[in-house]
Amino acid sequence: MPAYKVPQREMRFLMNEVLDYPAHYAGLAQGSEATPDVVEAIVQECAKLCEEVVAPLYQSGDEQGCQFNAGEVTTPQGFREAYDAFVAGGWQGLSHPVEYGGQGLPISLGLIKQEMLGTANWPFSMYPGLSLGAMNTILMHGDEAQKQTYLVPLTEGRWAGTMCLTEPQCGTDLGQVKTTATPQGDGSYRLNGTKIFISSGEHDLTENIIHIVLARLPDAPKGTRGISLFIVPKFTVNADGSLGERNPVSCGALEKKMGIKASSTCVMNFDGAEGYLIGEPNKGLECMFTFMNSARIGTAIQGVGSAERAYQGALAYAKERRSMRALSGTKEREQIADSLHHHGDVRRMLLTQKVIAEGGRALLYEAAQKADFMIEGLLAGDMRTYEAWDDKLGFITPILKGCLTELGLESANIGMQVFGGHGYIREHGMEQIVRDARISTLYEGTTGIQGLDLLGRKVLLLTQGKAVRQYTRDMLKVALPLVKQPRLRRHALTVLKLAAQWNWLTVRIALKARKEREVVSTACHDFLMYSGYAALAFIWLKMAAKAAERLEQGGEQSADFYRAKLASADFYFERLLPRGKAHAQSMLKNAQSLMSTPIEHFAFD
Ligand SMILES: Cc1cc2nc3c(=O)[nH]c(=O)nc-3n(C[C@H](O)[C@H](O)[C@H](O)COP(=O)(O)OP(=O)(O)OC[C@H]3O[C@@H](n4cnc5c(N)ncnc54)[C@H](O)[C@@H]3O)c2cc1C
Repeated sequence: MPAYKVPQREMRFLMNEVLDYPAHYAGLAQGSEATPDVVEAIVQECAKLCEEVVAPLYQSGDEQGCQFNAGEVTTPQGFREAYDAFVAGGWQGLSHPVEYGGQGLPISLGLIKQEMLGTANWPFSMYPGLSLGAMNTILMHGDEAQKQTYLVPLTEGRWAGTMCLTEPQCGTDLGQVKTTATPQGDGSYRLNGTKIFISSGEHDLTENIIHIVLARLPDAPKGTRGISLFIVPKFTVNADGSLGERNPVSCGALEKKMGIKASSTCVMNFDGAEGYLIGEPNKGLECMFTFMNSARIGTAIQGVGSAERAYQGALAYAKERRSMRALSGTKEREQIADSLHHHGDVRRMLLTQKVIAEGGRALLYEAAQKADFMIEGLLAGDMRTYEAWDDKLGFITPILKGCLTELGLESANIGMQVFGGHGYIREHGMEQIVRDARISTLYEGTTGIQGLDLLGRKVLLLTQGKAVRQYTRDMLKVALPLVKQPRLRRHALTVLKLAAQWNWLTVRIALKARKEREVVSTACHDFLMYSGYAALAFIWLKMAAKAAERLEQGGEQSADFYRAKLASADFYFERLLPRGKAHAQSMLKNAQSLMSTPIEHFAFD
């Protein structure tokens, strides 16, 4: 397994040059502490922890996996020490309010931390990752007493959190949830039911685990309108904050799964477990969206992390492995054969990984700024600002989750391909990245569900296309002046065309869907992927523009970096973006070729 090196030059290019994080933080109330020196120290310290402590446990964690014994789960060797180091560094509460034990820094810095942690060791990062979702839910929807009781130890990392939605009969369609919550007359409830696939449901990293659980109150309406949200602690909490009795919520089994073996995936049994309502009765799913949105962006990070980790491995291998001679003539005469990277097809693979990792990261860092503005509005009690940014983030979230995880998985597969047969052999670590990346397109809403959320809900139902119009307006604003620059002209024109086409496609699909509703479902995957390629084109144009500007200013010692960035942008526009055209064509077809064949005719004996 190749060692993980945090790509700090890349990160600084995005933060300091393309997205101007220093100016962004200077304009935020929450950003006053995030001075360039502090940000630099955070990146360096986090990189050190990830490279030296967390990443080395990635492969051994996969080999050992989590162990289950009589309801207890043991994480792989070294995980506890690494988690303790993570907690001691105050990393869990980096972006959470000071009054609840956090450091109060902008949420974007938290995302950058998550990226480093998740790329170093995704299964490890899931423990604090799930806690973050629980923290966000309690912060947004909990009452003050709940915040004091649960949020503070979660923020300090002493306790961990989970998200208990899925049941055997339903994962996507949570309207089918059966777990019940019966009021006890003293403000508490007793929960009964079984949840499956619960990440971090049980483990040995923390003294307590706080489950955030979807359940039904007696007489609740059927479907999604009858679901409420509860806090269920593994150990109840005494008035003084000390741990009380063991609550009857327990892990019945660990799932045996394809990848992320060091992350515990648990069957959780609630046998009359004490729980407390969070938010209003029957509004559980709305509250849970807080959790899900942050979890979706968290999962998009997994896409970028898989791409980056696989790229680092593949690049190193392509430099050291030799095979045949380059078609354009011998490159390394003194060697028995040329290195892999001299071959066009290997370069295609490496550059595909590169533009996915770098473009995906850039989209995430840009979305993180939107999240900062959204939180700023929330903390100031300015709900209009909050909602405006929430809408913008809500539009890009399914694109990030859906498209970046699909592309991250592609990049992981390419990593294995670059290694040839050795990629399939465990010791090289590339097959682990593929196995681990595979889940990213499934949990937190499958890719299909992201497509439906984007096209059906965010674009057609909620905004009648306005979400696309808003996003593409920014594309026009940025691309238009760049048409005048010879080096960027072609790409800028392409982005202008994409902006027009994206709107046109939206209108066409809206009209079709009026006549044939199923079109939303038959077109949503293509619409999602098209949107992803368009958004990536936009961010690659921005990166290329910054690189060109720097080169014009002299470029100093980084000239090679900027030239490589421009070359990568060329590769993206020439070689990856054309995939968007196929999606555009496909999405406009009638639903007929998918829907007209009866299911009995799908296969014949
Ligand atoms: C390793 C792992 C960790 C997980 N962690 C958690 C966790 O911590 N907490 C938690 O609550 N859950 C967790 N899950 C569950 C996960 O979120 C669900 O598996 C996922 O949401 C899909 O639900 P499902 O498996 O029931 O699939 P289904 O909902 O049965 O879907 C099956 C297929 O049908 C498609 N489909 C379903 N409905 C529609 C529709 N209306 N239109 C079009 N297509 C549709 C889906 O896209 C999918 O391809 C985890 C799962 C795994 C494997």
